[in-house]
Amino acid sequence: MARKSKQPEVNIGMVGHVDHGKTSLTKALTGVWTDKHSEELRRGISIRLGYADCEIRRCKNCGTYTTKKRCPNCLGETELLRRVSFVDAPGHETLMATMLSGAALMDGAILVIAANEPCPQPQTKEHLMALEILGIDKIIIVQNKIDLVDDEQAMENYEQIKEFVKGTIAEKAPIIPISAHHEANIDVLLKAIEDFIPTPKRDEKAEPRMYVARSFDINKPGTDVKDLKGGVLGGAIIQGVFKVGDEIEIRPGIKVTEENKTFWKPLTTKIVSLASGNTMLKKARPGGLIGVGTKLDPYLTKSDALSGSVVGLPGTLPPIRDKITIKVNLLDRVVGAKEELKIEPLRTGEVLMLNVGTATTAGVITSARGEIADIRLKLPICADIGDRVAISRRFGSRWRLIGYGTIEG
Ligand code: GDP
Ligand code: MG
Repeated sequence: MARKSKQPEVNIGMVGHVDHGKTSLTKALTGVWTDKHSEELRRGISIRLGYADCEIRRCKNCGTYTTKKRCPNCLGETELLRRVSFVDAPGHETLMATMLSGAALMDGAILVIAANEPCPQPQTKEHLMALEILGIDKIIIVQNKIDLVDDEQAMENYEQIKEFVKGTIAEKAPIIPISAHHEANIDVLLKAIEDFIPTPKRDEKAEPRMYVARSFDINKPGTDVKDLKGGVLGGAIIQGVFKVGDEIEIRPGIKVTEENKTFWKPLTTKIVSLASGNTMLKKARPGGLIGVGTKLDPYLTKSDALSGSVVGLPGTLPPIRDKITIKVNLLDRVVGAKEELKIEPLRTGEVLMLNVGTATTAGVITSARGEIADIRLKLPICADIGDRVAISRRFGSRWRLIGYGTIEG
């Protein structure tokens, strides 16, 4: 068998309601606690996207699935089946935009549902709706915190989950009881990941393209100018292969004003390094979150300034759009709130939150007519005709997912 690349080959989202155990399950699978950011630790919620990788292995002796080199069951030797990467989405209702950006990177998802609460909770519904809208149909349901309920409660919760997913994209998803806390039944989950979330077919010859989810200035404050490292982009390659040394273009880039005109100018730079977790790569393909070291001024990349942009080879990217026309599909009801409100048609003049790929932008409807809406965007996006736009509307102080649109022009 050919030696496998160190790079993970598939991205699996952890989605579901806040506190149902997404971060704990990510930790049980990968050993990494993804809530690193201090604000996240303080508030106890995941604000930014966390990600961590693991190996799925199988014991050569007894067939147990594990992430370890030695079988926890019989201490036999295990063989590597696949490297996978988890994207830990925030479950808090105020962070739907982050969840939607994360969903743009997911090949499949684990919907985490706590067994000790009635199902569905608001973001259980909203996250499943987001998967449905973005067409993510490789889904596993984890019934977590099984240690906190007795058999009867577990069964009752299982029936609620079954009823909830009926008629949805997750109708046929397996439901696996887990205790992330006690790392119980993780082997069954690993097998389910192998069976239900296959690595998508990738076309290595396609023009390389990456969605940027994070961007960083990795220099310590006070670093001497001559020692400064260029800006780093973190994101998921959605097609093709990037190589160290490639010239790249980043769209929409930066806002510039020249001769009294303000417009967005793509950035061009060169890839100086590629990293997947702690592994440096010469070539990177889809799978996992990739850190791309560039020659950009780190000032341009600090504090996620370039998140939402798209990277490709120069001249190959879709256009930068500050106006779009979309064909709209609205849901009947808002699902993310405690009470379910009816969704009224879009109105000319209203402001929406839009998510396209990893980009989040506000948009003002300049004309709404039947299924079609013209929207002027606050921040431009780099997107193709046919791309999906997740649409959220403001209810009180919250943005709620109300449907999606398809870009027509
Ligand atoms: P997230 O908001 O979905 O990422 O949830 P977290 O992973 O942060 O977990 C929320 C809380 O539930 C934490 O206090 C965890 O320790 C706890 N928790 C998570 N999984 C389990 C579990 O399987 N059993 C029990 N008893 N507690 C759990
Ligand atoms: Mg979390």
